[in-house]
Amino acid sequence: MPNVLELIRLSTDFLSKKGIESPRLNAELLLADILKCKRLDLYLAFEKPLKTNEVDLYREYILRRSKFEPLQYILGKVEFYGIEIKVNKSVLIPRQETEILIDAVLNSFDKNTPVNILDVGTGSGNIAAALAANLPNATVYAIDISMDAIKIAEENFESLMLNGRVKIINADINDLENELNHSFDLIVSNPPYVALDEYNNLQKEIINYEPKIAVTDMGDGFKFYNQITLRGKKLLKTKGKIFFETGMGQFEKVTEILVQNGFQNVKTVKDYLGINRVIIGELI
Ligand code: GLN
Repeated sequence: MPNVLELIRLSTDFLSKKGIESPRLNAELLLADILKCKRLDLYLAFEKPLKTNEVDLYREYILRRSKFEPLQYILGKVEFYGIEIKVNKSVLIPRQETEILIDAVLNSFDKNTPVNILDVGTGSGNIAAALAANLPNATVYAIDISMDAIKIAEENFESLMLNGRVKIINADINDLENELNHSFDLIVSNPPYVALDEYNNLQKEIINYEPKIAVTDMGDGFKFYNQITLRGKKLLKTKGKIFFETGMGQFEKVTEILVQNGFQNVKTVKDYLGINRVIIGELI
């Protein structure tokens, strides 16, 4: 049986030939998961021989990754805002940029305020979970039109023991009951915002594996900002706030949508690349 170092070398070489970015990192993370250790601990165990079943599983993982399946789907999990979120191919993989959206919300509300939050298009439930975990008196409604996404979100809220304060609804924002009108302090969303004509330029990992309905609105990229703003202004209380994640170059148009619908004090937050990543509007 090959040892740890030999396996890492072979698989790094293989992934690199297939065109996978950061092949060594990928090879190490997959092996660490199988050996149930931290990636850096592999460096203390280079000589360690592997068991047959471990090598077989590793081969399967490396083969999947070589076909551009995202690492996070193979591992079945990702870290988001310091918490572990389960993922599968029914949900978008939570992105680092989305942590900026969480920071923006947490900076706008006092930690102990009893806020009522609506997370539109919750996917894996990462946003709802991160907010509920950091705002102990918040109630979060997490909605999604995909039943498969709802199942994963539910598992996440349960394993994080947040299911008491997070309510999941399998619905479109337009189908939410009118009884919920004027009941939210804030609406948060990272909607599918890639325009259809840009979709094919995305990485293979996204096009071939992530759910298309979570990535593109099949239109100009602004469909959900329009829908959520329009319905959102009825769902929000007076002075309620909307927090959107946006893509590159979208902030002017989204600001316009918000202003036209009666939102004011529109602010943006840039990401580490200088792109306007979060837009905040307040309903007056
Ligand atoms: N709310 C999830 C996230 O931010 C899913 C978003 C989506 O599917 N567009 O990752």
